[in-house]
Amino acid sequence: MCGIVAYLGTREATPILIEGLKRLEYRGYDSAGIAVIANGTLEVARSIGRVANLEAALSDLPDTNATLGLAHTRWATHGGVTEMNAHPHQDDRHGIAVVHNGIIENYASLKKYLQEKGHTFQSETDTEVIAMLISELYAPDEGIDLEAAVQGALREVNGAYAIAVICQSEPDTLVCARKGSPLIVGVGRGEYIVASDPSAIVAHTTQAYALDDYNVVRLSRDNIRTSTLENVEVPPKVMQLEMELDQIELGAFEHYMLKEIHEQPARIRTTMRGRIDMKEGRIVLGGLAAFHKELVRAHRLILAAQGTALHAAMIGEYLFEDLARIPTECEYASEFRYRNPIIDEGTVIVAISQSGETADTLAALTEAKERGALSLGVINVVGSTIARETDAGVYLRVGPEIGVASTKAFTGQVTVLTMMAIYLARRRHMSAERCMTLLKELEAIPDKMASLVAQDSTVRGVVEKHVDRDNWLFLGRGYNYPTALEGALKLKEISYIHAEGMPAAEMKHGPIALIDDGMPVVVIATQGSQYDKVMINIEEVRARGGHVIAVATEGDPNIEGHADDVLFVPPCPECLSPMLTVIPLQLMAYHAALIRGHDVDKPRNLAKSVTVE
Ligand code: GLU
Repeated sequence: MCGIVAYLGTREATPILIEGLKRLEYRGYDSAGIAVIANGTLEVARSIGRVANLEAALSDLPDTNATLGLAHTRWATHGGVTEMNAHPHQDDRHGIAVVHNGIIENYASLKKYLQEKGHTFQSETDTEVIAMLISELYAPDEGIDLEAAVQGALREVNGAYAIAVICQSEPDTLVCARKGSPLIVGVGRGEYIVASDPSAIVAHTTQAYALDDYNVVRLSRDNIRTSTLENVEVPPKVMQLEMELDQIELGAFEHYMLKEIHEQPARIRTTMRGRIDMKEGRIVLGGLAAFHKELVRAHRLILAAQGTALHAAMIGEYLFEDLARIPTECEYASEFRYRNPIIDEGTVIVAISQSGETADTLAALTEAKERGALSLGVINVVGSTIARETDAGVYLRVGPEIGVASTKAFTGQVTVLTMMAIYLARRRHMSAERCMTLLKELEAIPDKMASLVAQDSTVRGVVEKHVDRDNWLFLGRGYNYPTALEGALKLKEISYIHAEGMPAAEMKHGPIALIDDGMPVVVIATQGSQYDKVMINIEEVRARGGHVIAVATEGDPNIEGHADDVLFVPPCPECLSPMLTVIPLQLMAYHAALIRGHDVDKPRNLAKSVTVE
């Protein structure tokens, strides 16, 4: 969840580390810290809150010119948000400092053992046991250097980790390792920048090494060595980082979330580029080609995801059943794994995750694979763990998503799932005519999205009327039931307004009791098979004093007579409509958060990619 950055080279480490932390801050930001080795001494600074607070605390550090160091932004799992619990954590004997992303599951028993060995702990974190364990094993006189001590310590721990470690008596060595949490080693000229994701590296270099689980890398000033926990050397895996710097800069926008909402038309065009073959009237997905036969013959799909990706998956469930006629189940990845799932031949699992590092989704994928399912990934980050672990997949190509509240990744996921459904539908039974019509409509979606992002000020005007209300409802039916869930989630995430999304028909089975005078109820009421039913639900809301904000199809002659406010979206086939109806809901959440004075890009308690279970 957190961000790790570490540096070994010839330049001054501190500014590089701080700049890296700022780029990683979207991953977690309850506290931050830095450690450098300067003139043979370990210097550490930590603070709670944002990286900016850490920068202020840096005045405590002596002017160092250190060229080796590591830093961390934390998203607490064990122990409150305090300076003591902030990373880096240090040992009590050798001047060792550790930053860690993940969870050490057996930390309690290790802590007890280490306390019995005489170690004194300062924090409540699970991470501190790593520092102490390395310390316990570290014996340079007996040939156990930092690398060997890290290997030995990691042989004892269970759980997930990406770590970086330094030791003041080895001022030319940086040791890093990973299992289940991301870590990339950027290789520049005479320097290394190690980080949780490419955004902290690409300003310096695009050459990198990927680390496998249970691999340890020792970086020294003239050498790089990768090994297993048993010290068997493994060849480093060279990779090219594809991210461009301008993709992760704010540019003219005030927030990443707004930038990413506005990017959607262009990004979705990229998602579709080269994948819609209008001449032949078909979808081309190179990433699935190797498993073409198995997919066409699949008799059951399981879509596993969490959060916003789960809402995209729910739309996928409608798409695969409606268009491709394949029985499909959509699952919270975290629940799927623990309910002894039935996987038989012909079951395909589709893991959906923006980062490709979502721990719950990865765990579900592993479970399904072990039980023999063919696995596909719908992932944004190229080369991420889920992307590597799946048999095949389709990348979103929407560029780095920095805003914690996901927007363009959601529309990217829905676009990819739509293309996958049409791909399978056409190869199973869909007529060439119907396929051609759908493809034309799909190609037209980005331009329609562009007209929606341009409605920014209209949406703000509607939000201003209701922003002081603390409870909202979001209703939709069919394809737009998941969109309603997504609208409610966006509002919760960044404006901290309590919002519930549900199928419009479900409201009368209980939640209708919540409706009181003026309660904002957002209803997705676009033209489609369930329009008349939705209109009835709107009347049920209004009869109880609720204030209806309808998202409706342009040209609908009725809607203004039934709703208090209307946000229009261009017409399109029902199965494609979530890609449009979600945009006013994204803007609604953005403006509500802004008006309420919250930090849109860094909502409280959240982190961008949830790499712990
Ligand atoms: N489990 C560690 C802690 O709570 C690391 C959390 C993180 O990944 O930021 O400090």
